[in-house]
Amino acid sequence: IRQRLAKADKIEAVSHLSAAISHEIRNPLTTVKGFLQLLGEQNYPDEKKKEFIHISIQELNRAEEVINDYLTFARPAFEKVEDIDVEKELNQVLNVLNPLANLNGVEIKKKYTPGLVISGDRSKFIQGFINLIKNGLEAMPNGGELIVQTFRTGNVVHILVKDSGIGMTEEQIARLGEPYYTTKGQQGTGLGMMVTFSIIRAMRGKVEVKSQVGIGTTFHIRFSNIVDDK
Ligand code: ADP
Ligand code: MG
Repeated sequence: IRQRLAKADKIEAVSHLSAAISHEIRNPLTTVKGFLQLLGEQNYPDEKKKEFIHISIQELNRAEEVINDYLTFARPAFEKVEDIDVEKELNQVLNVLNPLANLNGVEIKKKYTPGLVISGDRSKFIQGFINLIKNGLEAMPNGGELIVQTFRTGNVVHILVKDSGIGMTEEQIARLGEPYYTTKGQQGTGLGMMVTFSIIRAMRGKVEVKSQVGIGTTFHIRFSNIVDDK
């Protein structure tokens, strides 16, 4: 079992996050525009036309994936500070991901301690956990179990996300959160964990990862910005 704490310096490297993302979206758009121009200018053989269209759709899918990882819930320009009802928002995350869980035959188990509230930007919290839990589900293409657990010790709220998926090697754990690092080829953006880490860091949270190839992965997140009963 390997462990590490999320390193702040890694995220420092992506302080130009928005610039990187707009680049990631602009590239595919430029490609698609180019192909549409070609199609408009000349009468290509059907074979070629099909190829141009195929590549264009792939490129648009890619742009869509980047937007999913980055912008679905988190509006980068605004940083709100609000009460986050941990159970409620985690349930919302699991609702969004329910179709993927069903598709992969994953059973989701919730082990919540009720009444935990922390402070932060609710939509970013949701985005961060969508990216994290989505990876867990994607690590179990042939089914498995995903456990989402919450509890409190002192002034710390703990959130654990545990999957019984493919797991990670030491090298993979070390590279987690590096921009564009993915083992999913065309299916991956390598942006999800970078976004998750930067959101958790903005909330002054800590992430610990334990993973074993073929056994599964556990993310343990600790938040100290607890909101006590008013
Ligand atoms: P993407 O999902 O687009 O590949 P991410 O930044 O979300 O990009 O994840 C980066 C990589 O980290 C993944 O490609 C995968 O190799 C690894 N990873 C993240 N979470 C898990 C997990 N729960 N189980 C196994 N591998 C994971
Ligand atoms: Mg991902």
